[in-house]
Parts: sequence; structure tokens; C-alpha cells
Amino acid sequence: MSYSSRGRKVRRRRKNLNIRNLIILIAGFVVTILLLVLLVHGAVRLVSKGIGALTGDGEGTSGQSSTVSGEDNSSEPASEPAVSWTSVEMTEADEREGNLILVNGSHEYTAEPEDMTVLYGNKSNSYGLKVAEMYLKTPALTALNNMMDGFQEATGIGSTLAVSTYRTVEEQQTLYDEDIANTAGSTSDSVAQPGHSEHHTGYAVDMSYSAPTGYTYLDGTGDYAWLTENCYKYGYIVRYTADKSSITGYIAEPWHFRYVGTVHAEAITKGGYCLEEYIDMIKLHDYQNPYSFVSENGSSYLIYYVAGEGATTEVPVQAGRDYEISGTNEGGYIVTITTSSATSVSTPSTSSTDGTSSTESSDLTGGSSTVSEDSGSSSSDSGSSASSSN
Ligand SMILES: [Zn+2]
Repeated sequence: MSYSSRGRKVRRRRKNLNIRNLIILIAGFVVTILLLVLLVHGAVRLVSKGIGALTGDGEGTSGQSSTVSGEDNSSEPASEPAVSWTSVEMTEADEREGNLILVNGSHEYTAEPEDMTVLYGNKSNSYGLKVAEMYLKTPALTALNNMMDGFQEATGIGSTLAVSTYRTVEEQQTLYDEDIANTAGSTSDSVAQPGHSEHHTGYAVDMSYSAPTGYTYLDGTGDYAWLTENCYKYGYIVRYTADKSSITGYIAEPWHFRYVGTVHAEAITKGGYCLEEYIDMIKLHDYQNPYSFVSENGSSYLIYYVAGEGATTEVPVQAGRDYEISGTNEGGYIVTITTSSATSVSTPSTSSTDGTSSTESSDLTGGSSTVSEDSGSSSSDSGSSASSSN
């Protein structure tokens, strides 16, 4: 009986054990659920913390934020081919050479241009010459030939005349002295000081056309507006315009074309700069922060300024890429690198913000600092009606 009772006891104990097991199981289940809930909650908190760091407005520290933006930056160069830099040694004399040299009232041209070509025998048939002995820098002449061919093709006019190209300092002195004698003044206010005329460089040319009263300087109207509008495609700019006369020091001269090369002619024209403003703008860009320019034909360029450092200057250029270095005649060099693809170039906001407003100076054509660079150069002896401006 003890067995049976024991047996009953055992059975009862077994029953008790089963109930305890069930309780333990349920408790374990509840604890597991609780743990899971805690885990999920923690994960959500972590994720939201991460998003906060990404957007920079959550709990993320500034350190985390900068890491994120750092990753953004480093992903950009990684997608581009690495660019290696080398340098070219330029001399002080080189500062005064090249198609971007600035020559004006405050920047004298003291060099003697080399590599000049006589126009006679080397010009195209789409324009004439005032005299046989006229010279231009070779690239300027090639560009003039192409430009005048294009003009004749567009308008049928082949009688345009090149009246003034390269001018020596002595020739400028003669013009200057003549003007002083004629006006009985002590200084000339209509002819550039010797040494300060762009014609000394071999990069400038004056054009005139046949009018009923004789040859006269282009005024940029009628058929000749084509030259004003298209010259940049050939590397020329209309150097002196009415709205920039307070900066250039010259009245509008639609006849005076200055060669700067096609890239810069387009950048200057489309950016609304005069040469002075353009050089000032490029000076804001060094090789680590170059000015990006995409031409209308799809080519892309990096343009930057390097200040001269005396007798020699190491000018940085990109290895393996075409480049051009021009002096500025105001203390430095401008480098133009042709980049092979347009993908890395974004239209720089600087091109619109660097430009000086052109609305300021329309009333300054009669200002005392404004002189005509060309008056007397050819209009007097061609008997033309070209008004010698102030
Ligand atoms: Zn001129």
C-alpha cells in the first residue's frame, strides 16, 4: 500500500513537475519575446541614429557627419583617372610673350615680337592691304585669313582692307608727336603713348572698308556686324567696346581686332569680359582651382594663373595633356590645358559671378581717360571719313 500511495505520490509529483515545466516554458517564452522586442527596438534606435548622422540633424556627432561627407568627396576622384602634375620652367621674358599679353595705358609692351609674318604674299584673297609692308604674328595672320574668308563667304564682300597691323614704337612715337603738334597740347589724348599700343605686339589689326567717301574704319554695322559677331570663332575679339571703355581706356573701336586664340576669344566674348577683366578673373584661379571652360564645339579646358617669381618660374602643367602657356605682361602666366573629355567639367558658377557688370559705363565714352588707339594711323592719309575719335 505504501507502494500505491507512493505511487500516487509519485504520480502527483509528476503532475506537479509537468505544471512547473509548463510554467518555466511559458516564462522562457515570455522572456524570449521580451528579449526580441528589446533587440528590435535597439536596432531601430541604431538605424535612426545612423540616419541622423547622415543628414547631419540627428544625434550623430559632427565627427560622424564629416566622415560621411569625406566619403562623398573621396568617391569623386576615384571615378576619374588620376592626374599627375609636372612643371615647365618659364623665364621673365616669357611673361611678355603670348597671345594673352595685356598692353594698355598702364601696361607697357617692352619686348620685340618674334615670329612675325609679312601679310603680302601670305594673306588670303578675301581682303586687301593698305601697304605692302605689314606684319602680324603668324597665328594672328592665319586666323585673319580664315576670318576674312568666312566673312567673304557669308557676305560676298572681298574689298575689306587691313590698314594697320604691327607698329613699331618709333611709328607710334611719330603718330603721337604729330597729334601733339596738331592739337598744340603737351600730351595726346587721342593716340596711345608709344609702348602702350596693342599694335606693338603683332596681335592686333585694324580693318576698314570701302565707303562712298573713301576707306573708312569698320563701324560694326550692316554686313560688317558679321565680323563683330563671329570673330571669336577665329580667335579674335573686338578689343574696345563702348561698355568697357572705363576699363580699357579706349572708346569703342569696332575696327580693332585683337588675337587671343580661339579658346580665350570664346570665353571672353561669351563671358562678357574685356581682356582686363578676363585676366583679373583668371587670376582668381590657380592650378588647384582652375577655371573650367567648355567651348561650343564640345572641347573642354582648364585655365589658371601662375604668378611670376622673378628670373624663372616653375609653371605647373598636367602630364600627358596638351597645354598652352601665355605671359600676361602684368606679372604672370596663364595656362590653358585641354582636357580630353567633358565629363569632369561642370559649368562653373564663377563664370557668371566673376564678371563685372557691363551696365556701368555706357556714358563714359567721352571720359578724359578714353583715347582712340588708332586715330591718325591711317585715316588721315587714306583720305577717309573715319572720324578720329576724341
Ligand atoms: Zn588698332
